[in-house]
Amino acid sequence: MTSAAFDSNLAVLFSGGLDSSILVSHLIAQNHRVRPLYVDSQLVWQREELHWARRVLQAIDAPGLEPLVVIKLPLADVYGDHWSITGRGVPRADEPDEAVYLPGRNPLLMIKAQVWCRLHGVSRLALGSLQSNPFADATDEFFRQFEAAMDHAVSGHVELLRPFSALDKRQVMELGRSLPFELTFSCLAPRLGEHCGKCNKCAERQQAFLQSGLTDPTRYAASTDSIAIRGKRPCFE
Ligand SMILES: [Zn+2]
Repeated sequence: MTSAAFDSNLAVLFSGGLDSSILVSHLIAQNHRVRPLYVDSQLVWQREELHWARRVLQAIDAPGLEPLVVIKLPLADVYGDHWSITGRGVPRADEPDEAVYLPGRNPLLMIKAQVWCRLHGVSRLALGSLQSNPFADATDEFFRQFEAAMDHAVSGHVELLRPFSALDKRQVMELGRSLPFELTFSCLAPRLGEHCGKCNKCAERQQAFLQSGLTDPTRYAASTDSIAIRGKRPCFE
């Protein structure tokens, strides 16, 4: 099929989590040709995450879906003994959202993805950032300034799209309700390739299903009964 059959050609920062999987599916349904970009920083959960990212794309399989591109961006030399590298002290379910902040997360994800787009003639890069993302590098002002800085630095223009920026988690889950959610993945401490059921991201995931009234099909390694879900907000995915 030629690109003329689609309304536009864009890339999506994709992790295989709930939000970015729903975003890929949503954009394809809107007749966009979509290139998923996965940034591999060799964080402690990313081997399992990439495995499941490939699985969910296989399930989404549609004419507008381009093959996954994996962008390498190792961070161990910068992050050092941070929990995302060592796996020690991974934020638990009952810790505040700030505990899962990864230093420079959004700029690090976007900079190589934006350069990839420029070099491959893709003029738009979409992110699954939600209204409720609490971090300073996910604000409207940050994205506006980052886009302008990249335009200034390199000739050409890549527009940053955040189609979910006005939506809350429940609304996004509703958009994706036909997806095979059991193939999406969002866990900081996977056990034998599955969700641990104890970490901060597992709790956020469970709350997303609770809030949306959808059945959670996730297989958790640990019982979820003891997990405290107290007003957690969805963060990065
Ligand atoms: Zn987990």
